[in-house]
This record gives sequence, C-alpha cells and structure tokens, in this order.
Amino acid sequence: MGELLVRNARIVYPATRGFVIDHGWLLVREGVIAGLAAGSVPLEVARPVAGRQEIDAAGMTLLPGLLNTHMHLYSMYSRGISTGRASHNFLDVLQDLWWRLDRSLLKDACWMSATFSGMDSLRCGTTTIIDHHASPSYVTGSLSTLSDALGKIGLRHVLSYEITDRNGMPEAVEGIEENLRFFDEVHDKRQLASGMVGLHASFTVSDATLATLRKRVGSRDPGYHVHVAEGAIDEADSLNKYGKRIVARLDDAGLLGPRSIAVHCVGVDASERELLAISGTPVVVNTVSNMNNAVGLPAVREMLEAGIHVGIGTDGYTANMFEEFRNTLVGLRHRYEDPSGFWTQVQEAQIETNADIVSRLTGRSVGRLEEGAAADFVLVDYASPTPLNPGNAFGHVFFGMSADLVDTVVVNGNVVVKGHRVLAVNREDLERESQKVAKAVWESFDRLSWLPTSN
Ligand SMILES: [Zn+2]
Repeated sequence: MGELLVRNARIVYPATRGFVIDHGWLLVREGVIAGLAAGSVPLEVARPVAGRQEIDAAGMTLLPGLLNTHMHLYSMYSRGISTGRASHNFLDVLQDLWWRLDRSLLKDACWMSATFSGMDSLRCGTTTIIDHHASPSYVTGSLSTLSDALGKIGLRHVLSYEITDRNGMPEAVEGIEENLRFFDEVHDKRQLASGMVGLHASFTVSDATLATLRKRVGSRDPGYHVHVAEGAIDEADSLNKYGKRIVARLDDAGLLGPRSIAVHCVGVDASERELLAISGTPVVVNTVSNMNNAVGLPAVREMLEAGIHVGIGTDGYTANMFEEFRNTLVGLRHRYEDPSGFWTQVQEAQIETNADIVSRLTGRSVGRLEEGAAADFVLVDYASPTPLNPGNAFGHVFFGMSADLVDTVVVNGNVVVKGHRVLAVNREDLERESQKVAKAVWESFDRLSWLPTSN
C-alpha cells in the first residue's frame, strides 16, 4: 500500500445528493481516501513522497467503484453448457442446471471461477461483490479458496456458503461450519475479505438446520444472506410445512436485521414487507435473473413505500453492474407500466443502498467518495457531450458510461486494472487453464442424472 495521487480528474459522485468536480485530485493513504478537492494539487499534498504512485487522469472521469450485492461466482461454468432438456419452471431450472453444476465443482473449479468471474467484475468497474457460494462436493475450505483467488486479483468480497439440507443433514452441518470458520477467520481484519452466513432458501432448509445454525452462531452477529421467494415453490413450501410465510419464518429464526440480505423477494406479501421494514433488512433485487427464470419481478414500489431499503445484484447472471442497473430501471418501468418511474429509486439503490449494505458488512465506508472511505474507485474514459452537473450526473452514468469505458480500477488504494486489463493475471493463460477445468466440470455435470421434471 502507501500513497496514490490522482491528478486532473473529473470526479463524479453520482448519488442522489452527490457532487461533480470538473477538475480535481484525490489522494489515497493506506488504502483510504485521505483527501479530494477541486483544482490543482495543493503544495502540501504535492510535496514528493517516497514510493507514492501517481496517475494523470486527464480526460478521465473518476467514479466510486460499483458494488454487486448478490453474486454467484460459480455460475461462470454454466456459460455455453447444455442441460439437455427444457426446464418448465423455477424448480426445474435449479434441478436441471444449478444443482448439477454446483455438485460438479471441486477446489480447482472454485478457484478458477472466482478468478475468472472476479476478473470480469473488475473489468466492468465493480470493486466489491457479495457472493453466495455453493459447491456440495467441496464445502470445507471453499470460501478460503474463493477468497485467495479474489485477493490475488484485488477484488473486495463478502463471502458466504449456501447452507442447505436438500442433500442431507451432514452436508447442512458442513455448510454451517464453513460459514462460521470463514467468518471467524476474516472478521474485523479490515482487509479485502469479509464473511457472513449464507442459506440457500427456506424451502431447502429445515427447522432442524435452523436450530443447529442458531446454536452454532452463538453470540456472533454475522448477517444472513438468503434467497427469499424467488420462485412460487418457496412460499408454498413454507406455508405448507410450517404454516407461515417465509419472512415470518426467517424472523422467528432470528435471521433478519440490517446486516442480513433478503434476495429476490418476488413473492413476498404485505405482511412480509412489514417484517423486512421493521427489522431493517435490506432486499436485493436481481431483475435480469428474474426475467430470465420467468419468475416475475418483485413489488419494488410497495417495498419502498413500506420503508425497505432496496439494493441491486446480478445473481451471477452477469458481472456487469452498468447493465444490471439499466435493466432494473426498464424492468420496473415495464412492470408498473410507468415510463417515468423509478429513476431516483434505482440511483439510490445502486449508489447509496448498495454502499450501505457493503459498508455494514465490511465495517468500513465502501462505495462512497469521501475522506475516510475505502479507496475503491474507477477511471472511466468518458467524454461528456452535454453539461454534466450534480443534478444530472447519474443520467450521464446511466446513458453514457458503460463497462467498456472502464480504463483503470483501484481497490483498497491499489491499481488492479489498467487499460481494461487485470494486472495480476495473464488472461490468455487463465483462459487455457479454465477451459481444462471446465472439461472436468462439464463431464461431471453430464454424469449427474436429471431429477424428474416437476410438471
Ligand atoms: Zn442467487
């Protein structure tokens, strides 16, 4: 680490109460933003400092790094795969694709998917991911494997393992232990890695597993990362087996709170929205994934009216947050047949709520351009054809900027992408290695037989 000085940048913080500095500088010390201001670098900052790195950002726009608050790195190995038959509904999608794929992942595939997918995230200007991992054939140690890979390329991460007993209790217990082992290993270290506890979904987690989890968590407050009512099967299962809706079940198990993330929430009702709001549990929506799985879109307007904080993730569908927040806006406008709705709400979800979620889980200010925040930012090669000011900055980010224009990425004060290339890896070598691993993953995938279709 040490110091990094960025000069001559246009600095844009595209928050609802953000700012634009047409020509300014930003100083990083020990991974943290130590100062930023308009104009030329003042003399006391410009003095020579041994080992300081400098970037002349003339022509570039500096933005806070984008955050992806729900990701599945392992989904990378689904690219180009064939399940061999058509899935008729959400459960089929899980059984035909995801539960065969995750079971096929061993250590090398976990490492490679984190490296490759993490590299894609960085190149798209994403500086933190909150990942939800599953690899039932390699549970213990899997989160450390992902973390090693992500640490090497320099991507900030919050990891958890998807606890489930759909394959039996021993595997559920192994998942619980892996979450807690990793959480304890990285907690409060203030490095690139943080942990939380993951659960796959209500319909794949029994009360016995929840009781075991609660006992093992003890006095920790890790926060819980769980898919909620993504497909209709989840809510129906909870009502059938437990006589209550999913969010009530999670509340009874003590899993809600500001450090937790309720992902999707497509099928939640007003009573569940109230519980999410009262407990301060943020919801992370994943619009493109929902549309791809044909499960409908969540009632975001009603969530916001209930006082829920809504963030945005990709669910592993893409690493590109520029693409995701655009599609979130158009998806919601389409859902509500409202051509002028959701502008401020999507801006707030992407820039502010995602930053709040990551900051709570990492114990530091992340995703913001302010003194004392983690020095995670991007330089975008963007020429502005129209006036750019605090009132319309998000409009420029939304309509003018894209992942392709991300030139330089800084995470924790370190330059990790330059000229659109991740510095820590040789992409050609990585591609070759990854394809070798993919062959083994796909062979295993093909050997795992289908379960009967659910309709
Ligand atoms: Zn997911």
